[in-house]
Amino acid sequence: MPEAPQMQALAERLEAWLDGATLEGYTALGFSGLKTYDPPPDALVGRELRGVGRQAKYLVLDFGDDMRMLIHLSQAGRMDFENPPKQTKPKGAVVRLKFSGERAVLVREHGTERKAGWWVLGPGEVGPLEKLGPEAMSDEFAEWLRTSTDGRRVHTILRDQRTVSGVGRGYADDILHRAKLSPYASLKSMSTDERERLVAALHEVLAEGLERERAREGGLSQNKLGEHFTVHGKRGVPCPDCGTDLQRVSYESHEVVYCPTCQTGGKVLADRRLSRLVK
Ligand SMILES: [Zn+2]
Repeated sequence: MPEAPQMQALAERLEAWLDGATLEGYTALGFSGLKTYDPPPDALVGRELRGVGRQAKYLVLDFGDDMRMLIHLSQAGRMDFENPPKQTKPKGAVVRLKFSGERAVLVREHGTERKAGWWVLGPGEVGPLEKLGPEAMSDEFAEWLRTSTDGRRVHTILRDQRTVSGVGRGYADDILHRAKLSPYASLKSMSTDERERLVAALHEVLAEGLERERAREGGLSQNKLGEHFTVHGKRGVPCPDCGTDLQRVSYESHEVVYCPTCQTGGKVLADRRLSRLVK
């Protein structure tokens, strides 16, 4: 979190709020937030913001002449719109960007992990975008889902940004619940019908997610962003389709939520960490 729908809607709000504004300055507030040194952020000062886009989970701020700034919020990063700009340095602050018209954007991070970051890219540079797989909603990824014999668990695949970009653990849970597929299923063993369900669910869930995110206003300040999920983070809550209590399983250092009736043929998935202890 936040994933492509949150970041896409945030990019749209940021563009609507700042389009045509000039970057007047910046204050780096965290030690490790800036991931590039050349060109320096000063190269963007005095430039007009031409637009804000999104690629994977990155915001892409376009300052013309192929000069761009990327912002990645990672798990716990948030963005405040400030009007007028503040002088504060909240805990976890990363950077404050000051724009014309008495506006500023504050990037900050909850918790103790320091993973949110920003990059300044010059002409032709792609920085961290180079390693990313195709966008989740692209035809290229749909075709890959229809044909791949990848043996990894499908939940792992959806979260791997080198395979497909923009999906994280939240929408991965919701997509697999919509597709009625086990998070432990692999493409290798999936039927044509199951693959088509996965493609359809991916498109539906992300499109609906974007519509819900477009209802937000301002930045992305809220501590918790999970209120829009169907099953993610909702262990013990009745499945909206069949009423069975949703289950969770610990997997790759996080929790996956699923419905045993809708997704795993009634089977409760073994928690590998626990079963290893039991053996
Ligand atoms: Zn169910």
